[in-house]
Amino acid sequence: MTDTIKEVSIPHQHPSIPEDPSAATPPLPHETVLRTIERTPLRAVQTPQAFQRIALRHAHEEARQKERIVTDDAAMMEDSGFTVVIVPGESTNMKITTPDDLRLLETPQEPSHIPCTGFGYDVHRFGSGRPLKLGGIAIPNAPEIVAHSDGDVLLHALMDALLGCAALGDIGEHFPDTAQAYDNISSVLLLDEVLERIRKRNIQPVHVDMTIVTQTPKIAPFRENIRKNVARLLALEIQAVHLKATTEEGLGFTGAKEGIKAFAQVTAWRNR
Ligand SMILES: [Zn+2]
Repeated sequence: MTDTIKEVSIPHQHPSIPEDPSAATPPLPHETVLRTIERTPLRAVQTPQAFQRIALRHAHEEARQKERIVTDDAAMMEDSGFTVVIVPGESTNMKITTPDDLRLLETPQEPSHIPCTGFGYDVHRFGSGRPLKLGGIAIPNAPEIVAHSDGDVLLHALMDALLGCAALGDIGEHFPDTAQAYDNISSVLLLDEVLERIRKRNIQPVHVDMTIVTQTPKIAPFRENIRKNVARLLALEIQAVHLKATTEEGLGFTGAKEGIKAFAQVTAWRNR
């Protein structure tokens, strides 16, 4: 059903409406439809309208002198013999005419969701412990990681970023490394749990940007696999997950090959 345009009779101007109280049909207090207008050649026209100033002043002057009744500037221009051209309008460009129009503007337009970001950072020491995993992907021929869980430094940074979007603390609070239950636990399982907890807070991640900082191993051969896996774990398109890797030019503990660090930034919607 689309809007239609009706030509109506205004009661006091329409002689066919019975005035006799004894008539079978009582007088109608409302306007009545005379006919439905064919809409094809009709256009709804907004103001403001744009004209050449000199032509518009001419049309105004002519309308005033001839005492014409017009509804808008365009009608004045038509009456003065100018050609008026229709251009596309913008429905949100509302004209304020009545107090009701003003109230519409005052109505607060609360968005249904607002953007939020979360940042995460994690470090693990190299040493006898867990085989290196990054983003849930096993990295062969790499130094081992000292960790209580499986030591996936990238997923740990990612989880902290996700928790940051929801203002829900950090993974140390959610999964204490003193708890036996998390001994050598897969960080993929912990990530699932984090996702569940932030969804309960109406957080929906939409984009992830991550950086791994390490002197060894080389990340490039694994980068696309890690990206794909993180995208799968977050149920995001691959374009919404980015991964970079860098060294610290031999400086610091990563430069000394004593450990590995990772950063993650998550953009999300918080639905109201
Ligand atoms: Zn960690």
